[in-house]
Amino acid sequence: NIVKGNALHWFRHGLRLHDNPALNHAVCRCVEGSSASGRLFCLFVVDRSRFELPRDEAHNVRMSAARHRFLHDCLRDLDDSLRQRGSRLIVALGDPVKVIPQLLTEWRIGVLTYEKDVAPYSMERDALVNKFAMEQGVEVYVQHSKTLYDLDMLKDKSGGRIPLTYNGFQKLTAQAGRVAKPVALPEGPIPGPDENLISEEHKQWIDTNEYVANTPLLFPGGETEALKRLETSLSDPKWVANFEKPKTSPNSLDPSTTVLSPYLAMGCLSPKVFWHRLADIYARHPKHSVPPVSLHGQLLFREYFHAVGYTTDNFGRMEGNAICKQIPWDRNDELLDAWEYSRTGYPFIDAIMAQLRMEGWIHHLARHAVACFLTRGDLWQSWEQGASVFEKYLLDGDWSLNISNWLWLSSSAFFYQYFRVYSPISFGKKTDPNGDYIRKYLPVLKNMPHKYIYEPWTAPKEVQMRAGCVIGKDYPMPIVDHAVASKQNMQKMKVAYEIQANRISSNSKKKGNSKS
Ligand code: FAD
Repeated sequence: NIVKGNALHWFRHGLRLHDNPALNHAVCRCVEGSSASGRLFCLFVVDRSRFELPRDEAHNVRMSAARHRFLHDCLRDLDDSLRQRGSRLIVALGDPVKVIPQLLTEWRIGVLTYEKDVAPYSMERDALVNKFAMEQGVEVYVQHSKTLYDLDMLKDKSGGRIPLTYNGFQKLTAQAGRVAKPVALPEGPIPGPDENLISEEHKQWIDTNEYVANTPLLFPGGETEALKRLETSLSDPKWVANFEKPKTSPNSLDPSTTVLSPYLAMGCLSPKVFWHRLADIYARHPKHSVPPVSLHGQLLFREYFHAVGYTTDNFGRMEGNAICKQIPWDRNDELLDAWEYSRTGYPFIDAIMAQLRMEGWIHHLARHAVACFLTRGDLWQSWEQGASVFEKYLLDGDWSLNISNWLWLSSSAFFYQYFRVYSPISFGKKTDPNGDYIRKYLPVLKNMPHKYIYEPWTAPKEVQMRAGCVIGKDYPMPIVDHAVASKQNMQKMKVAYEIQANRISSNSKKKGNSKS
């Protein structure tokens, strides 16, 4: 019953029309040769068991209201863009492993296309869908377009072992050659779906926005917004050419970096488009910054972490993850809650977590500060717990990037100078001595004199009363003494590193003995 020219493009990430090779393939298959009568069904499947709608702020909510809103915006925008080209987006509800096979049959699909996604859940899901499709004689066309390079090509080039240093990875990408140019969607109308084959259920728009009306609209989702924001970010070529991270501020009220991450994470913006636009600017400014600190350097970090995540077994956890140091973290839900819900008593940390919960985006160095605080710095809680809290709130939540950065900050992989700890008091002061950022996100401290804003427990009682914030009553006392906790934790890290080194050396001795 298959109609060869009928194509189903399954949108998951990659929520854009530009530089979307898998979508292009679907469009071409519908309009080419003998199958010129083919129809294109553009589909997004909302899997509520993965996303859990945020009816409250309870712990088991997987995705915050702001993330839902962002996704909703992306889908609306995609639908608008498809309609402008004569098609539309179909939103279905359910488990894709069940929904896609059903729709492949119902819509008599000849070719299924989608962008490759490398998180373990996605790969398992896609394998099941592919198996069904192939058994039914449906062609499956999958393309890497979330990254600058085809990750399978990088994997092959590295002999299956992506280098574990940024420099090593840069060499690998140099061998892989230039980043390919983005591809344009073919001109002209996009063949719409055959409405006769679509059931009533799939004619309805699934309103993913029903619970999220009250979230702030700082970062509207969608490809249109992404392209607009790209232009704004690039509008000052000197700023682009001189961009150097970490020389940016974790607590400026206006972001000091591009904030394109949510758009890259959902695939509203193609990384290749971003890369080549930067390259054009660099070509006009020969004295531009270079990796790792430049914007190209940031995109290479992104690429590097996607590649390592793709090629490392059990990357998302400590156990069984060969590149992750085994560290005996504690599990204390009270401390975790205090961290997540801004009750640590350290205003800089609590303000960052408040911004994360409210707005869904925080600066890179702010992420450093709270991740270090939760793990090896102060609370000695596992990076896995921290990563799942970030995953819940971050608009740019992206599996391999989130995990990699948590591994880095907890000195579990990539970065091993565990004795370099961020102070929850002095770090933020450098860029915001008046504490305006804290005042904004923790209004309870808004009248605290700047002398005490980072350490309000040191303010005399009269000062606290005058500021309308008595420590221990209106705002908590610090849950740990940073000076003491960080020293103890460094000692624990030292021991964990030594145990790991001994284990590795005795394993390699055993291997040597068994060979001889
Ligand atoms: P810019 O500085 O403008 O950089 C441009 C782009 O480069 C970013 O949009 C992003 O796509 C990429 N990039 C920059 N820094 C990094 C980095 N360290 N790792 C990977 N990509 C990078 N980023 C995510 O996109 N998703 C996550 O889930 C995520 N989780 C993180 C968790 C922790 C604990 C930490 C410390 C960092 C995490 N990051 C994550 C990386 C980084 O903080 C954000 O990508 C960056 O802050 C986004 O802001 P921007 O778009 O203004 O970045």
